[in-house]
Amino acid sequence: MADLIIMRTDATKEDINRVVEKIEKLGFKAHVSKGTERTIIGIIGDTREVSDETFRLLPGVSEVISILKEYKLASREFHPKDTIIDVNGIKIGEGYFVVMAGPCSVESKEQLLFTGKFVKQHGCKILRGGIFKPRTSPYSFLGLGKEGLKILKEVKEELKISVITEVLSPEEVELVSQVSDILQIGTRNMFNYRLLQRVGKINKPVLLKRNFSAKISEFLNCAEYILKEGNSNVILCERGIRTFDSEFTRNILDLSSIPVLKKETYLPVIVDPSHGTGRRDLVIPMSKAAIAAGADGLLIEVHPKPEEALSDGYQSITFDMFEKLMDDIKPFLNIMGKKM
Ligand code: PEP
Ligand code: MN
Repeated sequence: MADLIIMRTDATKEDINRVVEKIEKLGFKAHVSKGTERTIIGIIGDTREVSDETFRLLPGVSEVISILKEYKLASREFHPKDTIIDVNGIKIGEGYFVVMAGPCSVESKEQLLFTGKFVKQHGCKILRGGIFKPRTSPYSFLGLGKEGLKILKEVKEELKISVITEVLSPEEVELVSQVSDILQIGTRNMFNYRLLQRVGKINKPVLLKRNFSAKISEFLNCAEYILKEGNSNVILCERGIRTFDSEFTRNILDLSSIPVLKKETYLPVIVDPSHGTGRRDLVIPMSKAAIAAGADGLLIEVHPKPEEALSDGYQSITFDMFEKLMDDIKPFLNIMGKKM
């Protein structure tokens, strides 16, 4: 079985092309990843019948690796070094830490502008705000929709800040990506394969949230769906899972998934302690814990008046708490060698 062809550092363009042609001749697609030192070529498809020998003796080939996991493009083997995702010059991953913060839902221009100004002033580089809200009850606030997108665009331009918002369906990807710098795929849609394939075809970062009932391997396979379509800008987000115990918290924030993911994949891993716990008072402690476990960033819900929020007020932190959070995480970032 052959999945990855690691080229020698002195492999020529011709050597690389020869391998790509061979892969295509066998009826597979080749995925070429040019690193600073060497090129790795992935064979996309069911490679069980492809022997290592087919490639091992070709000029310029250093090693042929078979990956026994279902996900290949998402695996560390494919890309040994952490990747850096660039969002308008903001770096995420490989030592670059990012805080994305803002309200659960965009409720009005005034609310988003006020929140955005505050979080920006305190070091947040990416403003979050849901406009299409997937809610448990269809009678809950479902977001402002297109009107919200307009607000997001205006606030983004006024504050000169990058923004992230959730996209719910393949049909809305085009529209949302006209405004949003990162497309968020929510926990409920992690398994929406059509949506994953659709965002795989655009050239914008995607933040993929772990489904609340998904195994880590399922999470990585869903990232693979996006990567396979050609979009390599995938950010993973741990946001808590369901277990037997919902007595004190809304979800169980699976912090052990962070080092597991960091071992399995090179993609940045960010943590959402707001949905992960469902409780405002747990956001700061779990943010520190997430950094200590190796997270590359945080996704935080902040609201000027959480008690009046139209969604997730109970877990949204106040402005004062946000300021404290940004101060409190500094020593943890220093210890972990992360730059913000
Ligand atoms: C959100 O970030 O607003 C959200 C709905 O998150 P999740 O999909 O994790 O529930
Ligand atoms: Mn929310």
